[in-house]
Amino acid sequence: MSQNSRVVVIGGVAAGMSAASQLKRLRPEVEVTVLEAGGDVSYGACGMPYVLENRGDMESQIVVTAEQFRQERHIDVRLHTRALKIDRLVQVVTAQTPNGEAAFPYDQLLIATGARPVIPPLPGIDLPGVRPLKALEDGRWWSAQIREAQRVVIVGGGYIGLEMAQALQARGLSVTVVEQAPRLIARWSEAASTAALRALEGRGIKVRCDVSVAAIEGEGKVEAVVLSGGERLLADRVLLAIGVRPNSELAADAGLTLGPAGAIITDHACRTSDAHIFAAGDCATAPHRITGQPAWIPLGSTANKQGKTAGEAMAGQEAGFAGIVGTAIFETCGQVFATTGLSVAQAQEAGFDPVAATVLGATQAHGMPHPGRTSVTLIADRSGRLLGAEIYGDEGVKGRIDTVAALLGVGGTVTDLGDTDLAYCPPQSPVWDPLLIAAHKVAQKIGG
Ligand SMILES: Cc1cc2nc3c(=O)[nH]c(=O)nc-3n(C[C@H](O)[C@H](O)[C@H](O)COP(=O)(O)OP(=O)(O)OC[C@H]3O[C@@H](n4cnc5c(N)ncnc54)[C@H](O)[C@@H]3O)c2cc1C
Repeated sequence: MSQNSRVVVIGGVAAGMSAASQLKRLRPEVEVTVLEAGGDVSYGACGMPYVLENRGDMESQIVVTAEQFRQERHIDVRLHTRALKIDRLVQVVTAQTPNGEAAFPYDQLLIATGARPVIPPLPGIDLPGVRPLKALEDGRWWSAQIREAQRVVIVGGGYIGLEMAQALQARGLSVTVVEQAPRLIARWSEAASTAALRALEGRGIKVRCDVSVAAIEGEGKVEAVVLSGGERLLADRVLLAIGVRPNSELAADAGLTLGPAGAIITDHACRTSDAHIFAAGDCATAPHRITGQPAWIPLGSTANKQGKTAGEAMAGQEAGFAGIVGTAIFETCGQVFATTGLSVAQAQEAGFDPVAATVLGATQAHGMPHPGRTSVTLIADRSGRLLGAEIYGDEGVKGRIDTVAALLGVGGTVTDLGDTDLAYCPPQSPVWDPLLIAAHKVAQKIGG
């Protein structure tokens, strides 16, 4: 057998199947085996809140089925097969299969085990009716339950909690979001949190911040959520949305180097501290293009790119994932929220001298009948180098954040942004786009 002819992939969703597919495209002769603990591969978790909102079919989120991978791409997908141990010395993965334990030898290995939802150790957490939304199986569960549910408490006011608040409210349920931090989307600016709060409350969604969940109560199924002050919120379903943690235990036990949040450290080729082992997606770090440090920002956009990179690298190509700048976007209740790069606090922590300016502007030109509003906060180093942006509002958010993200990726400056020849027509933006005004404001602050 030629060198690197057996590749094992652990985890079969975004990163794992992107890697397996890319590798097979480039080197069809390589034997690729995917070990997947669950019963699904290659699905889009990101779309699940929208499927729920629109009464869609959860199965539509499957991009390619396990059977299609086997038949059309000649990838040996093993479902319900959980990797238990990686023996780096003899290059073997031991896994629990439906027929008992089995050994899977590898020349190269990809760890694409993703992340798991945080489940707080609360009294009543195991009651029927309490569930996160992470895997497709969770999506199926919510899809079935939503028809009978009436009152849902969402624990966690991050982006998944807020996307689901919109979806469940749109389906006619009574929704309360409970957030332990003093405000929703607590890592964002206070103004963004306030905008999110207004958007939710505007749709009749109740929000309780600065209070934690003490217990979940019910006889045989969830009936109420008890808050730290003793208040009881009636609930027949509870969504847990308090974040995720990387599934990196296999890597840790095998002695691979871990980084921020315990995610597996990878380089630009998605290689770990073992030259034969790669890691990609939510279980791994990615090089941050601004700080130059490994960062853990678990997103589907990154998982797909890292998976493709790992596939190329395992095929022996000069693979290079440029890295991330942390661009993220979500929408809830008519408002779109996006960030890229570093916040002021993160910039300070990374040793920059940040200067920031915020512009509140219209999304259309003067005289248009239905102009929306947007807030653009731009952050730059005193040297002029762009460091980040937070943009939210009614419309046009994606185009603006992507413009900043593109410049961040190439080390652009506020002057570069201010000089950018942005498109203009009255229904799409004012002639002076809020992004350009923000760039000029930051440049003035730096100059002054
Ligand atoms: C509701 C929701 C909305 C989202 N929205 C967005 C969005 O809008 N934009 C965005 O960029 N991202 C979004 N994300 C995040 C995105 O879905 C994830 O970043 C992406 O799925 C990560 O892919 P992955 O392949 O790294 O990991 P996962 O999707 O977590 O897959 C890992 C797989 O590995 C398997 N596995 C784990 N351990 C083992 C083992 N020991 N043996 C075998 N198999 C194992 C698991 O069963 C799992 O199937 C969202 C996520 C959710 C849940």
